[in-house]
Amino acid sequence: MLNAQHDFRGGLALAGNKLYGEQAATCAAPLPRHLWIPLHQHQGPPAVPCVQPGQHVLRGDLIAKASTSASVAVHASSSGWVRAIESRDLDQGRSVDCILLETDQQDQARDEALGPCYTDPDATAAETIIERIAAAGIVGLGGASFPSATKLRAGVDRPTLEHIILNGAECEPYISCDGASMLEDAAAIIRGGQWLLAASGAQRLSIAIEDHHQAAIDSVNQALKRSADARIQLVQVPSRYPQGGERQLIQSLTGLEVPLDGLPLDLGLAMFNVATAVAVKQALEESQPLTERIVTVTGTAIAQPRNWRVRLGTPISELIAASGGLTHPDPAPRLLMGGAMMGVVLPDKDVPVSKGFNCLLVGPPSDIQPAAASRACIRCGDCVEVCPAGLLPQQLYWHSQAREFQAAAKLHLDACIECGACAVVCPSEIPLVQYYRYAKAELANAAVERRKAEHAKARYAAREKRLQREHAEREAARQRKQAALLQAEQTAAAKPADATSAAVAAALAKARAQQAKAKQALPPAVKAAQERARRQREHNSGSDN
Ligand code: SF4
Ligand code: SF4
Repeated sequence: MLNAQHDFRGGLALAGNKLYGEQAATCAAPLPRHLWIPLHQHQGPPAVPCVQPGQHVLRGDLIAKASTSASVAVHASSSGWVRAIESRDLDQGRSVDCILLETDQQDQARDEALGPCYTDPDATAAETIIERIAAAGIVGLGGASFPSATKLRAGVDRPTLEHIILNGAECEPYISCDGASMLEDAAAIIRGGQWLLAASGAQRLSIAIEDHHQAAIDSVNQALKRSADARIQLVQVPSRYPQGGERQLIQSLTGLEVPLDGLPLDLGLAMFNVATAVAVKQALEESQPLTERIVTVTGTAIAQPRNWRVRLGTPISELIAASGGLTHPDPAPRLLMGGAMMGVVLPDKDVPVSKGFNCLLVGPPSDIQPAAASRACIRCGDCVEVCPAGLLPQQLYWHSQAREFQAAAKLHLDACIECGACAVVCPSEIPLVQYYRYAKAELANAAVERRKAEHAKARYAAREKRLQREHAEREAARQRKQAALLQAEQTAAAKPADATSAAVAAALAKARAQQAKAKQALPPAVKAAQERARRQREHNSGSDN
């Protein structure tokens, strides 16, 4: 049985900054005239469009197919016309192809968009459930955007998977979308959890909620009582950042550490966000793909912070307008996707909401990320103490700054979850996470270049092999041809001799036939004279004896 008696290393107690009133119900964001639906809203390769400009689609229609088993499908978020497939800047300057959908404002949904609805998790085959989750294009809605069906398949391949954890720990200041989901969709979360249990073969499920979030705890508890499912329990965890991190939450619940080079599956665990469970329930029981999510729109520059149910592809400018616009006079406010700790800077207000987009944080730069000039590292070691991943942040910083990326990689830079705890406590105010992101990007680029070089090398080797094979085939063909020619010449050389002897024999036969014929044709007087001459020759030869 899990409990929250354990603790994870490092971390920080952060002041909550949920700027919206928890009593405010989540509202549907206005449906914009244009949706920019990204083809790459997940970890893994982008989806491949399967619609043409001019085509009319309904909400839930498939508009891009998963390109590999690590990719996910993309569906129309409303009804309307496909107008174009164009590139658009997303987070961190990523340019991603998007399907531009001009909505017809009818918002007509496709009935049973994914096929027949299911009602009983225990009467449905695991593979059927996983297939449906894949068809619905569901990814982890906590921000990681990992394809959920891929995670489930990996679990099914390991019969040791025992326990599912639904992550409702929401320790980032400002973000409250998971809290809203637990308040309003508690029954759907539990139902989605039951589908995940049936899909994975796990026997138990825990819903982790931070202990300060009493309203969410009450809501989920009531839904649990109604479900009367003894396999499911609610576990309260302390409010400490980054409690919502997968590895940290597992350590809190089990006391076990996921190895730096391992996975939760190695411990028989799989984790999903609470909102992901809601999407799973909708896919199975309502046959609806993932076309919307809850987004927290907040920050001191937002007039009316709140949670919205937002259609995927909605430009964030529409959310800012729906939230009463900006209060801050800065014409170019700082835009972050995600919370103040782990959020990434957005290039502009045209960025569309994607599946992993949980929070839009808007404010002046000083409000979101202090712009104080950093000083030299004084080797105080504070960053080491708070690092929940057990890393050496100051050494990662030195190596990153010196462009010694491989040295940083050896110190497990990839295990850094970019929680920012080290940067918060750093007395020298060094923007440590920016250095880590820079180093990670450089390592990723180097890996891409390495893969390209390996690919080119493999292609060159394959080409050489092909050329050698073709050369060998040509040579073999040439030799076969030469042998055939030789054979033909020998046959041709043999043929004249036979022909000559045949001709000679024929000539001889002809000559003999002519002699016989000529003999028979002699006149009787000649024949008598020849007979007399023959007898005379015989007589003479007898006299001689
Ligand atoms: S907290 Fe800042 S100053 Fe202290 S060791 Fe880490 S990087 Fe250096
Ligand atoms: S950002 Fe990375 S290095 Fe810094 S505390 Fe978090 S996990 Fe550790």
